[in-house]
Amino acid sequence: MSLPIYLIGARGCGKTTVGQALALALGYAFCDTDHYLQLSSGQSVSDIVSAEGWEGFRRRETLAVKAVTQPGTVIATGGGMVLAEENRQFMREQGQVVYLNADAAVLAARLEAYPEAEQRPTLTGRPIAEEMVEVLAARDALYQQAAHHIIDAMQSPEAVVSQIVSALSLARA
Ligand code: ADP
Ligand code: MG
Repeated sequence: MSLPIYLIGARGCGKTTVGQALALALGYAFCDTDHYLQLSSGQSVSDIVSAEGWEGFRRRETLAVKAVTQPGTVIATGGGMVLAEENRQFMREQGQVVYLNADAAVLAARLEAYPEAEQRPTLTGRPIAEEMVEVLAARDALYQQAAHHIIDAMQSPEAVVSQIVSALSLARA
């Protein structure tokens, strides 16, 4: 049985992009917790946050990660998934957790190029570059703590996929 692979890291680190390519390379299914939340609730992340606050969103996120956990699946998680101890523990117990690590400047440049504002409500309302520095300062330790493997995500998506495949000692499909 192939354990699920959870990709964690800040917005823009490539969880969706790399996750889809990784799933293809391994012959796994792909799933995105933010996407699952949208489909199951019929609301965008922004809508949920407006209606229920970040706290309500986080509660739904915990349900989402449990709902999508299946063997043979690459799971791209929301950037704040690691904030709850319950989620960190669940992912570590259920599968392999991979942290896609990138500098704040790289993350900000990617998000500025493709803001997708509807999908990515800013946490503070301040410029994205400043916000990423703060988000990483607050969360980097949690990403590291939750991860079985830490991968440099500042390479091409293909190179990131290759690193994950070898770190997990998996065979390409
Ligand atoms: P996440 O799901 O972690 O928020 P995405 O996969 O949506 O991140 O990527 C955010 C943006 O950065 C997208 O425009 C994507 O094309 C780009 N991107 C993702 N990974 C890389 C990479 N390794 N190199 C260059 N650009 C990337
Ligand atoms: Mg994503």
